[in-house]
Amino acid sequence: MSRNPRYDILFEPVRIGPVTAPNRFYCTPHALGTGNAMPHTRAAMRAIRAEGGWGVVNTGYCSIHPSSDDTPLPYARLWDDEDIGVHALMVDAAHRHGALAGVELWHGGGGTGNRMTRMPLMSASGIAGESTYPGWMNLSRSRPMDKRDIHEFRRWHVDAAKRARSAGFDIVYIYSGMNFGPYQFLLPWVNRRTDEYGGSLENRVRLTREILEDLKEAVGDKCAVALRFSTDELLRVPGEHMESEAHEIVSMLSDLPDLWDLKSSNWVVETASARFMEQGAQEPFVSFAKSLTSKPVVGVGRFTSPDAMVSQIRRGILDLIGAARPSIADPFLPAKINEGREDEIRECIGCNICVSSYHDGVPVRCTQNPTMGEEWRRGWHPERIPRGDPGTSVLVVGAGPAGLECASALGKRGFAVTLAEAGKELGGRVTVESKLPGLATWARVRDYRSHLIGSMANVTVYRDSLLTAPDVFEFGSDHVVVATGANWTTDILERNGYPSAGFGSDALFTPDDVLAGAALEGPVVIYDFDHYYMGGCLAELLRGRGHEVTLVTNANAVSAWTFMNNELAEIRSRMIELGIQTEFEQTVTSFSHGAAELTSIYRDRTVRSIECGSLVVVGVRQPNDRLYRELIADDDGLARAGISGVRSIGDCRAPGAIVHAVYSGHECARTIDRANEVEAIAWERPDLSPFVRHLP
Ligand code: ADP
Ligand code: SF4
Repeated sequence: MSRNPRYDILFEPVRIGPVTAPNRFYCTPHALGTGNAMPHTRAAMRAIRAEGGWGVVNTGYCSIHPSSDDTPLPYARLWDDEDIGVHALMVDAAHRHGALAGVELWHGGGGTGNRMTRMPLMSASGIAGESTYPGWMNLSRSRPMDKRDIHEFRRWHVDAAKRARSAGFDIVYIYSGMNFGPYQFLLPWVNRRTDEYGGSLENRVRLTREILEDLKEAVGDKCAVALRFSTDELLRVPGEHMESEAHEIVSMLSDLPDLWDLKSSNWVVETASARFMEQGAQEPFVSFAKSLTSKPVVGVGRFTSPDAMVSQIRRGILDLIGAARPSIADPFLPAKINEGREDEIRECIGCNICVSSYHDGVPVRCTQNPTMGEEWRRGWHPERIPRGDPGTSVLVVGAGPAGLECASALGKRGFAVTLAEAGKELGGRVTVESKLPGLATWARVRDYRSHLIGSMANVTVYRDSLLTAPDVFEFGSDHVVVATGANWTTDILERNGYPSAGFGSDALFTPDDVLAGAALEGPVVIYDFDHYYMGGCLAELLRGRGHEVTLVTNANAVSAWTFMNNELAEIRSRMIELGIQTEFEQTVTSFSHGAAELTSIYRDRTVRSIECGSLVVVGVRQPNDRLYRELIADDDGLARAGISGVRSIGDCRAPGAIVHAVYSGHECARTIDRANEVEAIAWERPDLSPFVRHLP
């Protein structure tokens, strides 16, 4: 297939200072959850995207000096010459695939923790943004930078840029955004200096300008110098001569950077989940810039549609289509557009599981792309998978995310695959849950895979086929994979922190009941100790149907886990906007006669009663593994049917999030023809040699 000429513009080269990007697909800097401790994992994650056609790939935030230490969060660093080699790995890999490699040089100023290096924090005026986010909350306060500090600060940037050049990077960044380093000088409410670095906008911009000039002089002959700048806060500050200070800053620095990388000042806004923000929602923060500079502008917007990308360029909003999440979900997105295969793009669903992996301190995990983070450790490629024996047959039972992923990956491997689904529709939980408010994009998990399966002659799909153990024996394939999911239970969380059998009542419901259309009597109480999206989404759904809703949880927030994927504040705001009542730090200790009894989780054990016509329990899920257990209990039946292996995957094996189900299905497909289900997995081990010489 060949490229649709409508998308030709996306494949035009773009000059960025002394270097040229081969196309407009730009992987913006974003954390990968690896830091310097996993150089091979990190390099492989970037290399795959270069191979997939991204014209530029960047590192995540890369500290230039020990006075900017973000431990325990996984960040990169370029502190001395010994750090060059690990970056060269990634650069070489990017270059092998014809991409440019960029490094996001970063100094956090007062916006980091220095927990490992124990150096005092420094900022423009000793003022840093307050944060209740666990990764950023810390007990150290910053000190105001004096003239010597500013001098050193500039030198660290230059030294790091020279190291970056030695590593082979084509683009070096100055990070003047998101409450870091030089950005703290730009903000009038953070910068209270009275010297030439404070006061007027020209003075506040001085440090950013000086570093730009320093870097251009130091490495600008070989490397492009990019400025990463947060616009949204300064767009709200009226300018003296122009609409806002953001306008004035872009206009003042105009053509000094070789590239403008524009972003929002708040990660929660920038990576808002699809539940709260549409594709392209960043446009108001960036659309003004191109009229004020002749240099290329890059910005993000969770773009997965090539038409939306073309529109950004044709309308003069962006020159380069920035992406983090779309490139995680489909590293081969550009290649697919280039080859006229845009219907095969594995579109990001905007769930932000990738964000939570960074907070977890592990390589990025992705709901849509199970190979993400496993490129080096397990040698998994997002597009290529080893061929299997086409004479081997596999029956997959259940077409939720686990079964669909398993069947499509087995199909790609060339096995003779049969997928049996009890329902009329494919997709299992994603089909049901994508009807919850804000989760429509989640259906992409189903659509991508069912589309793929539809194109495979070696995969047969049977709907309306609820299989029993005798059915499976009768079918008689070489392998059976059971992907029958899990069900919510009415088990109740006890005060001791463990769930036990719930209350007996006709008015007690699970999320499965609600999603299947059960008629509820109000007022509705949702008891949530699952802490992810389901409790909040059901509250929203039921409120939308006109019920009075109270969400009770033992946590101190609605959907408490979602501080991990940056949704927490948005979910809470939505509950407030919709008039959903909340009861935090409570357990439901009894339910009868139209009332639920709440007991405080604390020593006070205060007991209260609230009106409750229906109680929905969002807590424990239990594997629907009866079929699996019946099959493995019958060795004779399996032998007679010629079935050599039975596995369970996804929620049927262990209930989890959709990301776990997809991963489980993929892993099963990769390993089904191996005797041992558990592969030998490579781990990155530190090279001890530099440390040995320091031992006493
Ligand atoms: P997962 O997240 O692990 O993929 P889901 O609950 O989303 O699990 O999907 C499980 C699917 O399995 C559902 O679509 C369900 O209809 C189907 N299913 C459950 N039991 C059977 C069975 N015995 N035969 C065929 N399909 C089944
Ligand atoms: Fe998109 Fe979710 Fe994958 Fe992140 S984890 S890239 S939001 S699909």
